Amino acid sequence: CGIVGYVGHRQALGVVLDGLRRLEYRGYDSAGVALLDGSGGLAVERAAGALSNLEARLAEFDGDRFEGTAGMGHTRWATHGAPTDRNAHPHRDVAGRVAVVHNGIIENFAELRAELEAAGVEMSSDTDTETTAHLIAAAYTNGSTAGDLTASVSAVVRRLEGAFTLVVTHADDPDRVVAARRNSPLVVGVGEGETFLASDVAAFIEHTRDAVELGQDQVVTITCDGYEVTDFAGEPVEARPFTVDWDL
Ligand code: GLU
Repeated sequence: CGIVGYVGHRQALGVVLDGLRRLEYRGYDSAGVALLDGSGGLAVERAAGALSNLEARLAEFDGDRFEGTAGMGHTRWATHGAPTDRNAHPHRDVAGRVAVVHNGIIENFAELRAELEAAGVEMSSDTDTETTAHLIAAAYTNGSTAGDLTASVSAVVRRLEGAFTLVVTHADDPDRVVAARRNSPLVVGVGEGETFLASDVAAFIEHTRDAVELGQDQVVTITCDGYEVTDFAGEPVEARPFTVDWDL
């Protein structure tokens, strides 16, 4: 239901949790975060119920498990699978290297799930979303998209039907967050040395008012230096920058 992504110079966890709080008004049943520590680690925590449940769980960790300057968060409004911890986003591939959050519905998930299960993948949730984590992990490992997260996401979203905003991180590529949209909103916030992604500008308006609206069937890659937009075929497209001139 709500999505926040961040790559920059600040600790991502605080930015992401603040952003999710700004999106709470939309309603949700679970929440979760994924953080990239910059040296190959990907930490995920999720909890059914209020954002405060997730925060309580995060508070149980001291040390550096949730440190890092890139990450993402999600508030879920369940459509496929009960509102439980295991169905909360982010979802991961079997190796735990890819994390995905998703708003919307992937209409052809049953087909994709059957294909993955036939290939021996064991699902760890009842969601439509989880299929995408396994498919992106496979695309990142094999074939012409290997080692290229943006190309891997593009290749997978071309296979999806339905409405989705998908945001993806890979532990092997810790300086970027990649997102795609079809029939579901996604905006980029452009700061100085930091870039945001969200389902709604409310999530980052306290940090920057320079925004970019993503068009239908577009993929965006954010880094601390900015963003790049392509269509699902990987062709560069002209971005649509705007300034948020209203107050919360
Ligand atoms: N269809 C996904 C699920 O049920 C995403 C729901 C949402 O938009 O939050 O997990």
